Amino acid sequence: MSAYTTAFISHPDCWKHDPGSYHPERAARMDAINDRFVAAGLFDHLDQYEAPLASDEELARVHPDDYIEMIHRSAPQQGIVHLDPDTAMSPGSHNAILRAAGSGVLGTDLVMEGKVRNVFCSVRPCGHHAESDRAMGFSFFNNIAVAAAHAVDHWGLERVAIIDFDVHHGNGTEEMFSNRPEYLMCSIFQHPFYPGSGTQNPAPNMINVPLPRGSRGDALKKAALEEWIPALEKFQPQMIFISAGFDAHVEDDMAGLAFVESDYAWVTQLIKSFADQVCEGRIVSILEGGYNLSALGRSAEAHVRVLAELGS
Ligand SMILES: [Zn+2]
Repeated sequence: MSAYTTAFISHPDCWKHDPGSYHPERAARMDAINDRFVAAGLFDHLDQYEAPLASDEELARVHPDDYIEMIHRSAPQQGIVHLDPDTAMSPGSHNAILRAAGSGVLGTDLVMEGKVRNVFCSVRPCGHHAESDRAMGFSFFNNIAVAAAHAVDHWGLERVAIIDFDVHHGNGTEEMFSNRPEYLMCSIFQHPFYPGSGTQNPAPNMINVPLPRGSRGDALKKAALEEWIPALEKFQPQMIFISAGFDAHVEDDMAGLAFVESDYAWVTQLIKSFADQVCEGRIVSILEGGYNLSALGRSAEAHVRVLAELGS
């Protein structure tokens, strides 16, 4: 094992979730990342793992039992079932949802067992809009929250940080972890924008930085250096989780921010350098949004190149 082994966790089931033929959260997103990583030779440098199915016990750390049962029961035999206007299940969705939630649990175990230094989970559906008892925003179970809660409840960590640079505010993660002293959440997001949360009296452990439409990488850098880092320095996390959405990219027309690949590389380097100083480099990053396929592949590559110290 090299000093900086990075794990890449995914699963073929993540291709089988089909929320509708014109839905932007589509299986081609997985191909966009894989194609780019293959072309760049990245897989030669990454330890690849298949995501396990999350167990009910792992999900129950952040979701109530009756909600977990509802998701299990909602999987259709055929066709599509809507749980929310933009959040739907197909016959292949159930396993994809459980693999996405299980990926960060495995990632946390790999890091805590010292098998790898850090992890990127290339999975779908995304998770940060899922509230404890509500599917919304393409999300069913909150993947990053399930992973962070595993670090606290299973591994006994007392302080974990979640950094969310998706263009949308992670309302689900905030709902689950507000005023929970084991958790610190640092985020940027376009505001005003979907889902509309993040600015109304956030809890002291929520470092939310709303950015106006059109904001570029300099706004991300200012937020990270002036808001996130002081809070992280004070909190001294033992592990860092990243809700890695790439839909703030300038080419992604889902939203209106204007980040580019070098901004994702920069923020990843900032987080990684901080993690190296305070928590033995422990990072588990899980894919959230990113809907322009080319920009998604390039941005995920920039992110993982930094995590794996592969240079640009
Ligand atoms: Zn998003």
